[in-house]
Amino acid sequence: MTVSIALFTQDLRLHDNPVLHAARTAADQVVPLFVVDPAVEAAGFAAPNRLAFLADCLTDLDASLRRIGSRLTVRRGDTAEQTARVAAETGATTVHVAAGVTAFAHRREERLHAALGDRLHVHDASVTVVPPGRITPAGRDHYAVFTPYHRAWQQTPHRTVLGAPRVLHTPDGIGSDTLVIGDPDSPALPPGGETAARARWRRWDVDAYADVHDDLAGDATSRLSPYLHFGCLSPTELVAGALRHDGEGAQAFVRQLAWRDFHHQVLAARPDAARRDYRARDDQWHRDEREAEAWRQGRTGYPIVDAGMRQLAHEGWMHNRARLLTASFLAKSLYLDWRIGADHFLSLLVDGDVANNQLNWQWVAGTGTDTRPNRVLNPLRQADRYDPDGDYVRRWVPELAHLPGPAVHRPWLLAPDYPSPLVAPEDLSARMRHARALD
Ligand code: FAD
Repeated sequence: MTVSIALFTQDLRLHDNPVLHAARTAADQVVPLFVVDPAVEAAGFAAPNRLAFLADCLTDLDASLRRIGSRLTVRRGDTAEQTARVAAETGATTVHVAAGVTAFAHRREERLHAALGDRLHVHDASVTVVPPGRITPAGRDHYAVFTPYHRAWQQTPHRTVLGAPRVLHTPDGIGSDTLVIGDPDSPALPPGGETAARARWRRWDVDAYADVHDDLAGDATSRLSPYLHFGCLSPTELVAGALRHDGEGAQAFVRQLAWRDFHHQVLAARPDAARRDYRARDDQWHRDEREAEAWRQGRTGYPIVDAGMRQLAHEGWMHNRARLLTASFLAKSLYLDWRIGADHFLSLLVDGDVANNQLNWQWVAGTGTDTRPNRVLNPLRQADRYDPDGDYVRRWVPELAHLPGPAVHRPWLLAPDYPSPLVAPEDLSARMRHARALD
């Protein structure tokens, strides 16, 4: 009887899982393993919201595995040590894991390799649709601009979507550690796990996406980001499913998944972009902890910014348009270091992802891959365009709920008790030395 290990990381699913598929093909019996590694906490990535979501994901994965005759083994400790230990206990001859893109994932892979040697098999098309490094411009190891990347991405064949296993044999008697998780910070997190992910995906209407994705109050984006972050859904399966619709909505949605791949290939090539400017512009960031804290608390005096920050605190999630304008307000209008904002987002976002968070922040701050790095989003214009009736603000800023229609965006005229703007509307781009346009 041969045994293999499927080491789950950011691929907590049975459907379309190349790691699980390879482990099944390699041996008669498979040990599905997840290691809770304290190094993730030490690196500051283990935010309470994501830990709570992860606990749901693991419970759901275990239940799904039990339905097909298997179960999840959970171990706590160093990933390489624990995996080698389970391999020794079960006599596993191969270990399968998805390739990651962060510096942490690279180190984990090196350590697994040192502990397991040739028994380790790393699968590169699990976390993204197109593996990082698969497409590159001439003479470079990654694309630095999205548009040419997207063109090449669209022409790259995707692998075949894999079905979920119907039966999985697992050796008996493997000890498992209990997962102890504290309370999340946000009271309204979505439920984690592949079952919830697939239910949400089935309910959601991709056809309307192109028209509604920027409507803040409409809240009609897929909200699949936490499931993609933890790999409860495969991006390859989502793309294949969307392209069966063949309309503008599907095209627009697939483009967003290409953005996700784009940021992953940037980070895979430049792991230091998680903390360092991807393109340094000689910024002299303004320092003001009082302003940073007002931004975190959703008390900047600009209700559209405050609404986004309060949605983040309550749901551990924020609409993309709100992420853009709250981030622009911090990094461009207050001209505070983008890392202050990125850290706060990562401390709460249930989809908090090093590639997507840090590189979107850098895009907004002008230190990243934006080809117009000096643009500043004007929160009032953004509010008038993307929350024209003021409903998004009234939902998240109840003390302004009595203000009618778009008047809610300018409380200094009608609600004198509301915090006054941290920066006057006419000075929104004044601090930034490179500022050019107000969108
Ligand atoms: P949809 O609009 O339904 O899009 C579908 C999927 O495409 C998303 O789930 C996501 O996986 C991907 N996607 C969409 N927009 C982007 C984008 N700009 N970059 C990369 N992938 C994208 N996304 C995260 O997953 N994790 C983060 O930590 C994160 N931090 C962000 C920080 C800032 C400052 C900004 C501006 C954006 C950030 N995003 C992040 C990207 C985007 O805002 C979210 O992916 C999106 O809002 C999630 O909602 P949704 O699933 O409904 O998206």
